[in-house]
Amino acid sequence: MPQAVSIVWFRQDLRITDHPALVAASNNGRVLPCFILDDVNPPKQQQHGAASRVWLHHSLTALNQDLDNCLSCYAGDPIRVFAQLAERYDIQHVYWHRCYEPWRIQRDQAVKKFLQDLGIPVTSFNGSLLWEPWTIQKKDGTPYRVFTPFYKKGCLTAEPPRQPIPAPKALHCIKDPEHSQSITSLNLLPAQTWQQSLAEPWQIDEAGAQIRLTQFIQQGLPFYKEGRNVPAKPYISRLSSYLRWGQLSPNQIWYRIQAQGDTPDTQHFCSELGWREFSYHLLFHFPTLPNTNLQAKFNAFPWQQQPTQLRAWQQGRTGIPIVDAGMRELWQTGFMHNRVRMIVGSFLVKNLLLDWRHGEHWFWDCLFDADLANNSASWQWVAGCGADAAPYFRIFNPVTQGQKFDPHGTYTRRYVPELKNVPDKYLFNPWEAPSLLLQEAGVLLGKHYPKPIVDLKTSREAALSAFASLKQGSAS
Ligand SMILES: Cc1cc2nc3c(=O)[nH]c(=O)nc-3n(C[C@H](O)[C@H](O)[C@H](O)COP(=O)(O)OP(=O)(O)OC[C@H]3O[C@@H](n4cnc5c(N)ncnc54)[C@H](O)[C@@H]3O)c2cc1C
Repeated sequence: MPQAVSIVWFRQDLRITDHPALVAASNNGRVLPCFILDDVNPPKQQQHGAASRVWLHHSLTALNQDLDNCLSCYAGDPIRVFAQLAERYDIQHVYWHRCYEPWRIQRDQAVKKFLQDLGIPVTSFNGSLLWEPWTIQKKDGTPYRVFTPFYKKGCLTAEPPRQPIPAPKALHCIKDPEHSQSITSLNLLPAQTWQQSLAEPWQIDEAGAQIRLTQFIQQGLPFYKEGRNVPAKPYISRLSSYLRWGQLSPNQIWYRIQAQGDTPDTQHFCSELGWREFSYHLLFHFPTLPNTNLQAKFNAFPWQQQPTQLRAWQQGRTGIPIVDAGMRELWQTGFMHNRVRMIVGSFLVKNLLLDWRHGEHWFWDCLFDADLANNSASWQWVAGCGADAAPYFRIFNPVTQGQKFDPHGTYTRRYVPELKNVPDKYLFNPWEAPSLLLQEAGVLLGKHYPKPIVDLKTSREAALSAFASLKQGSAS
């Protein structure tokens, strides 16, 4: 006689507190918690990137421990996995949290139908958003395309987000011992040693997420509104990867922050969570967001094909110090500060005139927090082709950005140590430094550190005229 179980399908919610699906299952007898590595259904570009897989490996290991070694893991098409589980168990019910990526919506609908056809009920919950995309809409019933009204008129006047709930009081978990794969056999860790140092600074588990949140509330939040722009300062939360993988829910963060009082810093931080909601809103209502310009006039943009320049950008060898610092931070830590993401993005798209999708793909592979909604919405924003995007003529000057936001060069010198002895005045534009000064700093441009791969002024003018041609094109 097969054993009666309820299944909780963990996906992007790798925690046990504030987990409505786990609580519902725990009220329904024995629970079989499972994770399925699905490389079958996503489009190739949307399979987990290399850094994501490293984070996922550590997250699953931790979740398995939190579940008393009861997490069953599988790889393949979820329909096939559920079909086999249904042969071995008397499945009473399947529970999961909803996902919003277009391919996951389609897949989940198919899995749900498959299970229901077998007579197995499925219940899904909201476990990863404050407001689901269909709950916020303009008065005329259409989706928002501009952030401020979305957040202020839409979110803040809607039903408040769900209050977080504790972990289930009594959880009777079982494992599928014969068929579950080990986490190691999912082969999430790459062969290169690159990933070892990458994961070291992070405590990749639910407890680590809670510690990070508490540290941020004590040390970063009181300075957040202004301090969030300074990459050398510890005033940002660094919670994005925990949010991406669900070691924390946005509800847990939202209510902890709200409990700190109504200040400009708490308001600003909550509005950044609002940007995350906005990205999901856009992805849900405009599912081609990851691949297609939201503003169709950009389809005619004369992007350049420059593989050598793209490689230099990826490797942090552009000769523009703050850009190289950001790209090396990404490679070495799996993270990049938001201000620097905007600077390197603007440089790729507007100085090198390379298609924003190259940047989106590289970030997707290298970021621990690689998130389809946030990444594609942010890249479209940087390129100027998205909803509520930075206007095309807003081209960051990486020299003045460095001088303004890294005034003592602490961040830039950390990742570009070749320039550590170059005085602040020339740190962000070493090509303009007198040669004697560079010599004293031990730098020969082109040998110790690259010469700039583009001239900032002429490339800026080229970008402005390329963008202006679009404007004329759309007017004609
Ligand atoms: C080109 C580009 C690509 C990006 N790709 C991603 C990505 O793949 N995944 C990702 O999570 N974020 C992405 N972002 C947004 C942002 O840079 C990161 O969320 C932020 O840097 C994470 O650091 P933090 O957790 O310390 O943020 P905090 O400043 O502490 O903010 C708290 C949380 O708010 C959310 N948030 C903050 N800023 C934004 C934003 N601009 N858009 C959406 N949500 C935001 C994040 O969930 C973040 O964890 C990208 C930004 C740019 C410019």
